[in-house]
Amino acid sequence: MLTGCGLPQAWRQQQAWRILDSDFGRGLQFFRTLQAWKNTPLRPRLLHYVALSLAPPSMDDLLADLAGDPELRELAQELLPEWTGLLPGFHRLSFQGGQALLTLCVGESMAMLREQQFFADSVFLRAAGTGPAGAQPWSIWSVKALARCCRRGTRLAVAADAPVLQADLTQCGFEIQALPNDTPSGSYQAEFNPRWTIKTTRQHSISHPVAIGSCAVIGAGLAGASVAAALARRGWRVQVLDQGAEPALGASGLPVGLVVPHVSADDCTLSRLSRAGVRMMLQQARSLLRQGQDWELSGTRERQLDGTPDLPDIWHAQAAWLKPGQLVQRWLAQPGVTFQGNARVADLRQKQNQWELLDALGQPLACVDRVVLANAGGALPLLARVQASLPALGIRPEQLPTLHGVRGQLSWAMHDGNQEDLFPSHPVNGSGSVIPAIPMGSGSAWFVGSTYQPDQLTPLPDERNHQSNLQRLLRLCPTLGQALAKRFAEGSVQAWKNTRCVSADRLPVVGPLYQADNPGLWLCAAMGSRGLSFSVLCAELLAAQWGGEPMPVDAGLARSLQAFRGESPRIK
Ligand SMILES: Cc1cc2nc3c(=O)[nH]c(=O)nc-3n(C[C@H](O)[C@H](O)[C@H](O)COP(=O)(O)OP(=O)(O)OC[C@H]3O[C@@H](n4cnc5c(N)ncnc54)[C@H](O)[C@@H]3O)c2cc1C
Repeated sequence: MLTGCGLPQAWRQQQAWRILDSDFGRGLQFFRTLQAWKNTPLRPRLLHYVALSLAPPSMDDLLADLAGDPELRELAQELLPEWTGLLPGFHRLSFQGGQALLTLCVGESMAMLREQQFFADSVFLRAAGTGPAGAQPWSIWSVKALARCCRRGTRLAVAADAPVLQADLTQCGFEIQALPNDTPSGSYQAEFNPRWTIKTTRQHSISHPVAIGSCAVIGAGLAGASVAAALARRGWRVQVLDQGAEPALGASGLPVGLVVPHVSADDCTLSRLSRAGVRMMLQQARSLLRQGQDWELSGTRERQLDGTPDLPDIWHAQAAWLKPGQLVQRWLAQPGVTFQGNARVADLRQKQNQWELLDALGQPLACVDRVVLANAGGALPLLARVQASLPALGIRPEQLPTLHGVRGQLSWAMHDGNQEDLFPSHPVNGSGSVIPAIPMGSGSAWFVGSTYQPDQLTPLPDERNHQSNLQRLLRLCPTLGQALAKRFAEGSVQAWKNTRCVSADRLPVVGPLYQADNPGLWLCAAMGSRGLSFSVLCAELLAAQWGGEPMPVDAGLARSLQAFRGESPRIK
């Protein structure tokens, strides 16, 4: 398949290479490609491998097939912790520090092809499926859907001869090419080179990846730092500016939070997005953080306390506690990222083809090719200034989702050796949460949260907030709540508080801030109460749009996060 697509020569010295495989099968082709990429001098910085699958193989089957090849088997071992929860839909898996990305699209081929948003550089086409669920038949309609994912010059390697498919490919603009003598019988190659002008309804940014250069990210919380790391992995020089002297002094200064998917009976948009986001956050935690110290794949027990009696608890095995500040630090320490504290951005100005970021006195703080506003509740006021300074851009903040501030307080204390046997062995959430045994200095602490109060209201005293957290604890873990009530009453519980930035539909906002062919000003904000579940997903979505890369989620889910999505009904 590789030689059929002119690889590895074709991808030498390219920034990124995007492969579409019509059937993941049992993964052999993927691991061969990964191996070839690893062994190519001057390989592309980023390898995207998008594979369709009716039903992914089990890890046992996958490893059994690779038994005779220790090098491929070792590559497959990297998948082990991520090879779980592969339900219908898109799943982004990460290799080699995020330089090789597998997007596994589980479902019927045509539906999965229609959800793609990128142009492939190479296509591996199997006429008959080799996956465990058997053949996925090709038709003129699926070939048309495939052609939609190709740019002029995309090369196809077709594994098995299928005359009908050849005719369909020709009709859809592929030129079938003469076969080299050493090609296995039945396979052939083709190139997408239609005799007509290719029309696309895709966004301009997808068909025209942005040239890699310099970028400023405003805000050094989870949103900004994850965007910075995602862009730096792709070769961008990223300057992160924050008004605070240190990173993560806003909501991301949260001492510990839960990375846990949202579940709903109808598997709503929020549930599907949070599942994708949790998977991607756990990858980052595994590769960057110290397990047991900065994070732990603890699992979480979700109590269903919405009033319906006797609903069983839900066990989330793929859930973790995590210290956001540690992760922000690690992202900002990635090569290509610099942090500038005490840098409150008050306005922006355009200078030739660049953006100048100005402080309150109008002094330049940075001058860059592109800017991302990842400053949570600070984004809309800054945008209003920019709109006033640069009316020609046509920024329409009123067309963005409404953003609100929601205050929150956690109650926490060090474990003191009493009531230890009453604490659950893992975090519990539901209406509120309790996170036990988090390493802090020489001891460990417990956390109970969190309150919700719109920031237009007068802040409540800490004591009132502690009491509402105690009420949450009494519902979640009644015996523990009764035992800790004394500590709440005697005032030996501490408070951590900050403000979440929340959109009306409870989904983050990621996208360009004005309509143009190549908009240089982007927003990544409104992580709400789930910054740990959404920040990596949003950063990868933004970077994918800049680089014309495959999206980590299907087109429908990606659209639900766009900045100009209009107001949608509030999602719980
Ligand atoms: C009590 C509480 C409990 C929570 N628990 C959880 C949890 O368990 N799990 C979870 O996933 N999430 C949780 N969250 C939510 C999570 O903390 C947020 O979603 C996340 O931190 C938001 O990240 P951010 O980068 O968007 O915002 P922030 O961390 O607030 O970062 C925005 C940054 O922008 C900077 N800034 C603003 N304006 C400017 C400007 N003009 N110039 C320069 N810098 C600027 C600020 O200084 C700040 O550092 C909780 C939040 C709270 C308050």
